[in-house]
Amino acid sequence: LRALDTAHVWHPFTQMATWHEDAPLIIEKARGNWLVDTDGNRYLDGVSSLWTNVHGHRHPHIDAAIRAQLDNVAHSTLLGLSSRPAIELAAMLARVAPQGLNRVFYSDSGSTAVEVALKIAYQYQKQRGPAGEGRSKFLCLRGAYHGDTVGAVSLGGIDLFHAVYGGLLFKTVRAEAPYCYRCPFGRQKESCRHECFTHLEETATRHAPELAAMVIEPLVQGAAGQITHPDGYLAHARALCDRLGILLIADEVAVGFGKTGTMFACEQEKVTPDLLCLAKGISGGYLPLAATMVTDAVYEAFLGDHAQCRTFFHGHTYTGNALACAAGIASLQLFRTEGTLERLQHIITIYDALLRQLETLPHVGDIRRRGIMTGIELVEDRATRRPYPFALRTAHKVVLAARRRGVIIRPLGDVLVLMPPLSITAQECGLLVEATAEAIQEVTG
Ligand code: PMP
Repeated sequence: LRALDTAHVWHPFTQMATWHEDAPLIIEKARGNWLVDTDGNRYLDGVSSLWTNVHGHRHPHIDAAIRAQLDNVAHSTLLGLSSRPAIELAAMLARVAPQGLNRVFYSDSGSTAVEVALKIAYQYQKQRGPAGEGRSKFLCLRGAYHGDTVGAVSLGGIDLFHAVYGGLLFKTVRAEAPYCYRCPFGRQKESCRHECFTHLEETATRHAPELAAMVIEPLVQGAAGQITHPDGYLAHARALCDRLGILLIADEVAVGFGKTGTMFACEQEKVTPDLLCLAKGISGGYLPLAATMVTDAVYEAFLGDHAQCRTFFHGHTYTGNALACAAGIASLQLFRTEGTLERLQHIITIYDALLRQLETLPHVGDIRRRGIMTGIELVEDRATRRPYPFALRTAHKVVLAARRRGVIIRPLGDVLVLMPPLSITAQECGLLVEATAEAIQEVTG
């Protein structure tokens, strides 16, 4: 298997897999919050398989739902046909999403959920007549990550994913993202004047006539380094968009389905976006599924006869796949029957206390957490916050050291990402944090 993997599988970010010990583990089984490789070694899944498996692996309720659906139909298209699980999941999502988001457009990945949102927003503005004229650009935050398709990369601001494709991408309007540990306005906690709020306002106001929508990850910019936003920032963005006639697209691909402590991050600031992008946890992490939810007002702009040509010309082959939707229904049921979010509050108290112990490590610069989403930023020098040289790949080495201790975590630059399943136990939290601490000490000395 290892030889065939090396010979034939193009893994994401392959250029980084240069060392022998970097070789991907070949995962053969999983159960609960644990993964098992082909050698029988067990690993605690500290990133819920890239932020997806919110209830862990092989939950009997989700397994059973998929099996039952398989006995009926695995897949039939949503083009001209519909299916029971696709309908029922859409109705359930409309019940749990921020009020007013009643319409679900299915696709297959977080990137396509964002891509769909961009196209809907662009077309919506065009169809609005004079009020929407010229509104063809998107406002996004520096350092953002919204996926790997061309539209989603255009929004992105992480050089590694973005720079090489420059000639292929469309232009966006960028605002500095709030980043309290490395404030782009040069402030410290004590001297903070919330310049990130006024800066966003100025940027949005200046560009308003050309803006179709603002795209934002609510509360936490995940792939940017688990950067947590100051309270009120999302509500501020909502108010600005309302005032300036800009649509608000909330990308909850990473933060959605409980990871910030509430079902959706937008809830915490009582915000209803005009469009909401969902993926990852939507199917409990079992199967590829994504949704772009929109308000009635947005959907109604697409009603009209053929002469007006208001149809949204977009559709994927596996859109609303029945097995994936059945998994999605079962996952949402579990949130209710297992009281996932209530239980999580208790776990987070324990988890937070454990994490605080890492603050004493000399090369831990910042620990940021919202719900279960955690970033641990490593620095070469804590006093000056000087990062490690990129070539050292310090966080990457820490991740490998944690793996040797039976725990899977991920690096994002110099940031260690911990995002275990919501089903993690107190004992597993202990293991996760302890292995991370030992790994940091081993690598940073
Ligand atoms: N948006 C956000 C905020 C994400 O974190 C990701 C994936 N990490 C995506 C979009 C893209 O999702 P996918 O990888 O499923 O295309």
